[in-house]
Amino acid sequence: MRIAIASDHGGFELKGHLARALGADHAVSDFGPSDRASCDFPDYAVPVAQAVASGAADFGILICRTGLGMSMAANRFQNVRAALCATTEAATLTRQHNGANVLCLGADAVSGDYAVEIAKTFLATPVDNDARHVRRRWKLERAERLSDCSGLMRDDPEVFAAIEAQTKQEDAEINLIASENTSSRACREAAGSVLMNKYAEGYPGKRWYSGCLPVDAAEELARTRACQLFGAEHANVQPHCGSAANMAVYFATIKPGDTIMSMALDQGGHLSHGSPVNFSGKIYNIVPYTVDPKTERLDYDALERQALEVKPKILLTGASAYPRAIDFKRIREICDKVGCIMMVDMAHIAGLVAGGAHESPVPYADFVTTTTHKTLGGPRGGMVLCKEKWAKALDSAVFPGMQGGPLENIIAAKAVVFREWMSEAKKGYAQQVVKNCQVMCKTVQDRGYRIVSGGTDNHLFLVDVKASKGITGKEAAAALDAAGIIVNKNTIPFDTESPFKTSGIRVGTASATTRGMKEPEMIKIGTWIADVLDDIANVEVQARVKREAAALVAHFPVP
Ligand SMILES: *Cc1c(COP(=O)(O)O)cnc(C)c1O
Repeated sequence: MRIAIASDHGGFELKGHLARALGADHAVSDFGPSDRASCDFPDYAVPVAQAVASGAADFGILICRTGLGMSMAANRFQNVRAALCATTEAATLTRQHNGANVLCLGADAVSGDYAVEIAKTFLATPVDNDARHVRRRWKLERAERLSDCSGLMRDDPEVFAAIEAQTKQEDAEINLIASENTSSRACREAAGSVLMNKYAEGYPGKRWYSGCLPVDAAEELARTRACQLFGAEHANVQPHCGSAANMAVYFATIKPGDTIMSMALDQGGHLSHGSPVNFSGKIYNIVPYTVDPKTERLDYDALERQALEVKPKILLTGASAYPRAIDFKRIREICDKVGCIMMVDMAHIAGLVAGGAHESPVPYADFVTTTTHKTLGGPRGGMVLCKEKWAKALDSAVFPGMQGGPLENIIAAKAVVFREWMSEAKKGYAQQVVKNCQVMCKTVQDRGYRIVSGGTDNHLFLVDVKASKGITGKEAAAALDAAGIIVNKNTIPFDTESPFKTSGIRVGTASATTRGMKEPEMIKIGTWIADVLDDIANVEVQARVKREAAALVAHFPVP
């Protein structure tokens, strides 16, 4: 074991004794002090806590006269559980039950030899993974999550209440919103960090303000990691959101009034792809394309014919509600024939692309835009990837073209998430999101519901509740909400209902998969969806599902 040990002046002798005694069997690093001159205990407790929190050490040992100041200092760090032990029994129990990883000792309370016995017991006792202890440790984590905002609790109880309510909602409900996910603690820490204090108009190395070295480092990491993760030639990580990322590409490449061909909103496209109420529809000439009415999939031959006729400046693919894989190679061929820019908005599928569960558009497209908060699971934000030849035009379109100072805290959180995606575990995650989606989709389908396009290749599926049960998407979503299952109403291709009512619901599995759910849970959730929708006025069914859903999610902690 790697053990980090430290004390203050009051624990100096005992520290030396313990370090010698444990040094025979373990790699003990002495974090000081090096003499018994009077010192401040946090100066020694904090580095040890940091070593344990970061994983650089397996265990910490902290000694002062009572052990109390040391416990307080160490317990301020996430992943650190510091326990003050005066007996070997306490050392055993706090390891087994609490998973303690920092031992605090009071030099006034224990003899040198007994302290060694306590430490050896502490180090040798494994953590007990019995369900009740796991549950209690998890509740400790959740309390810690609220303690992230303990300053807010005091200074602004109203805002704190909203955050607390969101935390409770995430715990208790099954979130199947296809455009959402659950961010990691590391990502949230970066997003809430002091980097938000810095103005940094411009780009790393070329800023309009002084003092930008720290944010330059963060933004450079985000750019480099984005290029590495997606195999891109250039990345701009500054767009505040997905819509701004799209705006940046339009501004970098075409003029007001020029033609963009994109998927219509009711077919699964996005507002920023040319909806008349959006800037895109107001500034540019938008020619929408649709899916094939029979297969409800893209018909690439029809798309090619239309594109050759329309001659758009940009052919835009990618969608918010298209459950099928997109053939980017074929789109490239079409763009080459037309001589237009190939732009792919992978906002929804970016995580699947990063994890290799969907073909990447990056090798084919001139521009790839994305959000960083959907399947990618990062902070709310946008990004553009492009070929080197477009880099300059893109960067000046974002700044000074449309934005001022970038959100460097959010950019840092993007960097965190890109790094997370470089792990093998995340590849497995992406495959699991798709598997989960297919299993849940089939469960609902087998209960007699019509699925748009007959199934799914990605993280979402669309249920035609109107054709299946004569109800609207709005009614279906409300009934599921009452049962603790969160989806959204969604138009389906050639919908005859208004966008406010819709004929469909959209169901996605990214967030549930982040919580660790797999196929058996997907079958349960799919069954509950069908149970609720079979009889949407039945409040007893809703209450039963809500109870069962809450019992299920209790086993799948939110990160
Ligand atoms: C979500 C989404 C966006 C925009 O995201 P915002 O960050 O909300 O602006 C853009 N394109 C597609 C396809 C999307 O699904």
